[in-house]
Amino acid sequence: MSNRKSKIVIRPSSHYCPRVSTIVGIDLGTTRSAIAVVEAGMAGLLADAEGQRLLPSVVHYPKDGIPIVGWPALRQRALDPARTIYSVKRFIGQRAADVPEPERQVDYTLTGNSLAVKLGEETVSPEAVSAEILKSLKTRAELVLETEITRAVITVPAYFNDAQRQATKRAGERAGFTVERILNEPTAAALACGLEKLPEQARVAVYDLGGGTFDLSILELREGVFQVLATHGNTRLGGDDVDQRILDWLLEQIDGDADVTLRARVREAAEAAKVALSTETVTTIQLPFISGDTSFECVLTREKLEALAAPVIDQTRTHCRHALADAGVKAAELNQVILVGGQTRMPLVRRRVAEWFECAEYAETRGDIRLGDSFHEADGPTLNTSQNPDEAVALGAAIQGAILSGDITDMVLLDVTPLSLGLETFGGLMNVIIPRNTTVPTKAGEMFTNAVDGQRQMLVHVLQGEREKAVDNWSLGRFELESESAKRGAARVGVQFEIDADGILHVLARDTATGHEKVVEMKSAVDVDDTAVQKMVEESVEHAFEDMDARKWIEAALKAREAVKAGRGGLEDFAGELNNAEAITAALESVEAALETESDLPQLKAAVAKLDEATLPLADLMMDRAMEAVLRQRGMLD
Ligand code: AMP
Repeated sequence: MSNRKSKIVIRPSSHYCPRVSTIVGIDLGTTRSAIAVVEAGMAGLLADAEGQRLLPSVVHYPKDGIPIVGWPALRQRALDPARTIYSVKRFIGQRAADVPEPERQVDYTLTGNSLAVKLGEETVSPEAVSAEILKSLKTRAELVLETEITRAVITVPAYFNDAQRQATKRAGERAGFTVERILNEPTAAALACGLEKLPEQARVAVYDLGGGTFDLSILELREGVFQVLATHGNTRLGGDDVDQRILDWLLEQIDGDADVTLRARVREAAEAAKVALSTETVTTIQLPFISGDTSFECVLTREKLEALAAPVIDQTRTHCRHALADAGVKAAELNQVILVGGQTRMPLVRRRVAEWFECAEYAETRGDIRLGDSFHEADGPTLNTSQNPDEAVALGAAIQGAILSGDITDMVLLDVTPLSLGLETFGGLMNVIIPRNTTVPTKAGEMFTNAVDGQRQMLVHVLQGEREKAVDNWSLGRFELESESAKRGAARVGVQFEIDADGILHVLARDTATGHEKVVEMKSAVDVDDTAVQKMVEESVEHAFEDMDARKWIEAALKAREAVKAGRGGLEDFAGELNNAEAITAALESVEAALETESDLPQLKAAVAKLDEATLPLADLMMDRAMEAVLRQRGMLD
């Protein structure tokens, strides 16, 4: 690894910037974290006293004394698994219900709805564990830069929801930082990778496969501005899953029950073998004295590893396809595919990505691409491996920090919303206020009215998702706004959604008559049904037709019920004066019968059309009476 690869020149030397940026960039990773800073116009990672640039995201809580972070904590993982916390990023800002049971299988104990970590009698929150990692990085930066560091940009996976972003921000604050920006990891990576090589207008895909998350983002660079056209991914897919497969394979061969300590040791050996097989074709796994004086030893070949890992890697393909479709971009139209995340060092990942994105001929005969190489052939995009995949995100965060602090002025960065945000409206439909993939920060609003006469409370139910029916989306929160009692349809309540630069949603609702308003920050995970985002998008595609039918039915049924109500009212008041009362009654009954089918739209439409026709004389009559009433009021009639 040459030192040069962890730094990129951001500005031409004529704009040379001599100082150290005051805002650092932090990649708070599932398995490893890193801190970077822009110095003299170059972004670079900050190493610890031993020269290590990556910090294992592991915290060990000794029975007595202060928490231990990083490498020494990692060494405790096998010795004291119950008090050694790893992969805590999977739990930050999450509730027990959000995380499926298999994901909660860690070597330490999680407790309660808030997924706190149990340490004997005490508990510690995932947020507090993350804060320890961030504190350690802060101390490192202060030692290297010999100055107090208080401002940071912290990255999160693009699919983190508001609660997870907020919790990450709070962890940063707990560590003593002012968190200037929560930045999406793929966007940060793109910032760090090969900007100077891109043409004026370019499109890149960022394939980010880390320890615990996967994201595929399509970004467009136009005159120095990055825009995320689409993002797709899975917050629970990564290198850890590959480790799990190797672990399962090894445990099959180890006789007897593996206790937690042994499992932790085997997992560590599995990961080490996986890493070794990125450069070797065969490796030996040795576990001395696994029980009594029995030791375990086995050979793992790259071929076997690839067979074990392929199902995990292949799961990323659907997301790639979806992101391309969402962005309306063909693989061949991309300039680059940037590989990010430690797991992309695996030759199998590189081969698969090159193949899927039609990068170029990636013949087996070429052998594996050497780390740090890029290759390019005539048509397809370049597979960009120019940055160390596990360093690019922190470097990009540092660049963003320098943009914010004014140390870099020739670049701007825009992020987008991963899912649509909207409100539940009458009839249980989703009314989108901010569509998916909108550039943030953003603000959008709409006027709503009351659905029933004299309604004094307006329910503001905030939803996130791609489905037509409110119930199929995630509920981010709900609150009530007092509104002035008004006739149905007369009240005016304005609702505004504002997503700030950190991707956090602020919802403002105001009754325009009274000026009464409420602003609610959607940061609580309590009401969030956190089904994976990609599942949401996939389901929306899968159910597109039936969703559309459901929307059409609900809208038609609402109209039909109104028509029935008006028709019945009119009939009661004017029955004696109508000569087609029977026809109206029959038409009303057939609308009601159609409504009872709860799905037969053509029948409902036909019945409503008939009712409209039958009620024409009634409508005329009502109009005449209304006119008469007005004229009488004005003294123009006897
Ligand atoms: P990240 O979250 O980006 O730090 O990625 C961490 C993941 O990358 C872990 O699952 C590591 O085991 C994996 N990883 C790191 N280095 C390698 C390597 N050389 N070959 C294969 N996987 C690796």
